[in-house]
Amino acid sequence: MKCAAIVLAGGTGRRMGNTIPKQFMDLNGKPVLYYSLKTFSEAEFIDEIIAVAAEDHIDKVGKDIVDLYGFHKISSVVKGGRERYHSVANGLEALPRDTDYVFIHDGARPFVTAYTIERCLHYAKKYRASVAAVRSKDTIKIADDDSMIRNTPDRGHVWMVQTPQTFEYMLIRDAYRRLLDDEDRLKTAGINVTDDTMVAKMYADVDARLVESTYENIKITTPEDMELAKMICPRIP
Ligand code: C5P
Repeated sequence: MKCAAIVLAGGTGRRMGNTIPKQFMDLNGKPVLYYSLKTFSEAEFIDEIIAVAAEDHIDKVGKDIVDLYGFHKISSVVKGGRERYHSVANGLEALPRDTDYVFIHDGARPFVTAYTIERCLHYAKKYRASVAAVRSKDTIKIADDDSMIRNTPDRGHVWMVQTPQTFEYMLIRDAYRRLLDDEDRLKTAGINVTDDTMVAKMYADVDARLVESTYENIKITTPEDMELAKMICPRIP
């Protein structure tokens, strides 16, 4: 069985209000991106890792991360795209056809654990698609464009999804190809593609299994997230 991981670092960090994108910012002496690459590299069932970076950062990732830390499972650093889903599609196309399972992970989530990765693979084998997630502690409201509450989903069924999102490789590769063919229609319909399980559902009709993860598996998006990450960091080995 061949397993691969795509680690996304192709974002430009607009919401961080910083010139350095969040995945390259310093977290206890190492770039944010280092941590998840290390966790995937150390998982014995991962054979290959593709890192995705914006064109201007490809050399930096190669030199300052892959070479410096000796991440030999990283087979290439590929160019990201305009939206996250373009970056994912580029990563998927860079993998060999005989890949069985692929993990898609946000490089801006440094605290994914080895246990979460293992569980995600277990459920991807069983259900073809799985996604790390946590139960919502807060009540969630669905609002209209005027911020008026329209719906209150039953909290027992509300989860917040994270990454990794894990799939049979051919299933998700083909789903992404269909998505790119359908891009104009989605734009017209105002549908935003924000995660990979959405793509698996829309273009392969596969429902993903939620895999209970940890609340520490945060995505570093804003400066406050960076402060929180510094507090979480000393606790990880
Ligand atoms: O923007 P968002 O917070 O959803 O980004 C999630 C992950 O996707 C980040 O690790 C970011 O670097 C990556 N990304 C990407 N290409 C883009 C946008 C985001 O690889 N065009």
